[in-house]
Amino acid sequence: MKPTGPIPPGFATIAGELAVGGLTASALVEEAGGTPLFVYSRDMILARISALRAAMPARLKIHYAMKANPYRDLLGFMLELVDGLDVASQGELAKAIATGTTPDKVSFAGPGKRDEELRFAIHLGATLNLESANEAERALRIAGEAGIMPRLAIRVNPDFEMRGSGMKMGGGAKPFGVDAAEVPALARRIVDAGAEWRGFHIYTGSQALDADAVIETQGNVLELAARLAGEAGVDVPHLNMGGGFGIPYFDKDQPLDIARVGAALDARFASLPPVLQDTEFAIELGRYLVGEAGIYLARVVDRKVSYGVTYLVTDGGLHHQLAASGNFGTVVRRNYPVAVANRFGAEPEEEVNVVGCLCTPLDRLADAALLPRADVGDLIAVFCAGAYGASASPAEFLGQGPAREMLV
Ligand SMILES: *Cc1c(COP(=O)(O)O)cnc(C)c1O
Repeated sequence: MKPTGPIPPGFATIAGELAVGGLTASALVEEAGGTPLFVYSRDMILARISALRAAMPARLKIHYAMKANPYRDLLGFMLELVDGLDVASQGELAKAIATGTTPDKVSFAGPGKRDEELRFAIHLGATLNLESANEAERALRIAGEAGIMPRLAIRVNPDFEMRGSGMKMGGGAKPFGVDAAEVPALARRIVDAGAEWRGFHIYTGSQALDADAVIETQGNVLELAARLAGEAGVDVPHLNMGGGFGIPYFDKDQPLDIARVGAALDARFASLPPVLQDTEFAIELGRYLVGEAGIYLARVVDRKVSYGVTYLVTDGGLHHQLAASGNFGTVVRRNYPVAVANRFGAEPEEEVNVVGCLCTPLDRLADAALLPRADVGDLIAVFCAGAYGASASPAEFLGQGPAREMLV
């Protein structure tokens, strides 16, 4: 037997079934028109953001990194709840605008921005988080040709990274951001060129569950921003402090203690260096806001035994849930939380492998999981499916097509 991850709190049971937004899994599938299906819960997202705001200093803005889940209905809902949106491509920017956000609430980071993407963002008035000196020059030239004052921030490649972070994105050679040592000169260049200077973006990693690591990193981020601004002789209108708040996916993962993180940040905000005293601070979060509020439902198509091992073969798989299959940035495959959705809370009876319908051994949703007995027609739920699911999986692979999605 291999353990499965912890089922996020907040899900209901109705008539013996997993329920979201007052509807049973079977009813959700019927309403959506079939499986595989992602279901995202408004109530759970709302509760998460309320709790986060209660824990964080009032002064801290909360941004949504839309790459975590760009599903249109969910994005529209998020826009009402957060203070800003972080996008990473022209496509995301266009979608954010189409969904009703105003460009002044959007910042655009990401390496490899093409001229047309820079032009699009500059014409809209979105903030560009510049990833290199080259990109800065291109942005200044494009803005100059158009006679527009661009809103420019520098994404800093910090000389440290977050301890215990799932995906390391700072400290050493990186395609992201401008090396800290080169930032002061570039900041001066941007200010001297007459652009609207927006400050710094310092992103240090992702999927952190250790409050001490987050607290330490936020301290380092504030220190670095103050030092760089001092060296450049510029102010810091806005500081995007990164995010990296993680969620428990696997057995023994403990939720991040946001009360401690918030209290520590409160204390830091109370004794800021002069150069940061008027700064607007933001964190950018993806999975923490939406990850636990989503489930992925797949139907059992076949049940078979091979050399004594029971397989539940579903109509879902890694083409929608690459992360749960263990093929999206994990070193050792571990089980996400899973359940038999139409027998939610029933006693576990047997050890099974839950697999997808793709013809590859990579397509696993749960290994040696202890579950209630499930047969053809039953529904399997994979939890923690609200972030990096549909949009971060190869939906075209093996021609099974995309999943349905709904927000309830
Ligand atoms: C991916 C990304 C995020 C969101 O990461 P989560 O782990 O989902 O919170 C935030 N900022 C940047 C720059 C990113 O690349």
